[in-house]
Formats: sequence, C-alpha cells, structure tokens
Amino acid sequence: MRDIAEMTVIQIEVTNACHLRCANCTRHVGHHKKPFFMDLKYIEKAIDSLDGFPGRIGMMGGEPALHPNFLEIIKIFEKKIPRRKRQIWTAGHQWAEFKNEIERVFDKDLINYNDHTAPGKHQPLLVGIDEVVENKELVNELINNCWVQEQWSASITPKGGFFCEVAASLDQLIDGPGGVPIEKGWWKKPLEDFRNQINSYCKNCSAALPLPPESDGFGGRTGPTVDTISEKNYQLLKNKSLKIEKGHYKIFDKKITEKEIIKNSFGWAPSRYRGFMSHSEEMSREHRLMPKSEKIKAR
Ligand code: SF4
Repeated sequence: MRDIAEMTVIQIEVTNACHLRCANCTRHVGHHKKPFFMDLKYIEKAIDSLDGFPGRIGMMGGEPALHPNFLEIIKIFEKKIPRRKRQIWTAGHQWAEFKNEIERVFDKDLINYNDHTAPGKHQPLLVGIDEVVENKELVNELINNCWVQEQWSASITPKGGFFCEVAASLDQLIDGPGGVPIEKGWWKKPLEDFRNQINSYCKNCSAALPLPPESDGFGGRTGPTVDTISEKNYQLLKNKSLKIEKGHYKIFDKKITEKEIIKNSFGWAPSRYRGFMSHSEEMSREHRLMPKSEKIKAR
C-alpha cells in the first residue's frame, strides 16, 4: 500500500446513485436503499482540502450525471481545478445532453467513459478475505499488496476522506464510522494514520484476494446481476442491502487454500476489467461495431 500523497488521483464521490447495476460494483451499486448526493458546498470544501495535491482530482459516482446539480458541479471543477488536473468517470447517463459541457471542461483523455455495453469483468468484492483465508499472515500480505490501493485512488465521500475508494464505499454500505475530516491537507497524513480504516474494511473485502473475475452483466442490461458474498458479510448486510432483499446474490461459503491462491494468481489482472479504454459514447459505439480481429488489435 502507498501513502495517499503518492497517488495519481483522489476521487470526489459526488453520488453513489447509478442507472446501471453491474455485478460486483466497486461502489456496491444496487445494495443501497437510498443514494447520497453530495452537497455543493461540501464539494467545494473537498476540492479545497486537496490544495497542493500533486495528482489529479476525479469526479466519480455512481454516475455523476445523475446528480441533480451535475452541471453546477462541472462548473465548480472548472473554476477550482486546473484543466490537466481534473478528470471524470461516467457511465454515459444522458450523454447526448451532457457531452458538450463535459468535453468543454475536461480533456478527452481525462474523460473515462464506460457504459458497460462491452464485455467487462469484475473482481468479487464482498467475500471477506479474513473469513475465507485461514493463514492470517497471508491475509495481511495480500491486503498490504492490494491492487486497488496500489493502482487506483483514495476518495472523499459525504462521510469524509478515505485511504481507498472501495473502503470509502464499504463504509457507506455498512454504516461505518466515516472517514477523516476533510481539513486542508488531510491527504498528506501517512498511511499509518488510516490504520483504523484498514482494520475495519480490508478484512471484509476481497479485492486483494485472487478470485476468478465475474462478468459485470453489462450493467444489468441482460437481467438482474448477482454479487458474490461471504457468509459474514451476508449477515452484516442482510437488513441493509436491496440486492440481498431481492435475492440478487450468491453465497461464497468455502475456505481458500494457499495452493488455490497461488493457482488463481497466474494471469490474474483484476484492474484490466475491460478490453479497451473509451473516452466517449462515440468511441464505445465504434468499438462495438468493430470486427473481433480489430477489437483484439485495439487492446
Ligand atoms: S482490500 Fe479492499 S478496502 Fe482494503 S485497500 Fe484493497 S480495495 Fe481497499
């Protein structure tokens, strides 16, 4: 794991509402009974707290375009963040309506567009690693090398600042105690200052555990998607989760041996959850229409 100051992006999670329902979503979309929409004043405060951060500041959801004040949030990003330091992640909700404004404010290469119309794979995230791996030294070693924290982002939710974006979402999901207050420079704290978060969330998570990836279910376009959940997480979430209430889950009820972990590690590349990067609806459509051989070359 690395200090937040070393990361390339810190995400501001403006909402966890989404029009899609991918299986094993990193923001646990589909589980929440009520989504949040971050207050505009808080968004300004979040950006101000990142003053001096050398990396980029991301606008993330859920689907940011579902925020009722989405266009105002874009303007806040424009006003407060230098152009090459702003980035946005969208699943393309009302792309035709918002495209011009998004492309006016964000450089094309910093628009991460994924409408989940192309095949995608998601790592199960709700199998508690501590529950299914008996060797606790190995549990700690895997968590210490978690690819999400190593390659992705820290994050700000309405509940504060977090060392990891998946931990931030878990805190929301299980009604955790929240993150650190977003005072100026909170991101400069050493990782050790986030030890409470690491201890609370990483053991309930399976990002760091080499498990076979599962289809994202095209964002739920082909029918309800199913999350893989371990028994203790099921108990923790059964009265909180809509996905569980609807029966859209499967229980992972076995232990994983070191031998299986080593076997699963070969070729395991969970951060490569799709075969290509897109920056617009048009790029995604073009990719959809390519012959298979061209798609392979485009990787
Ligand atoms: S194990 Fe989960 S909560 Fe912990 S750093 Fe990795 S993704 Fe974040």
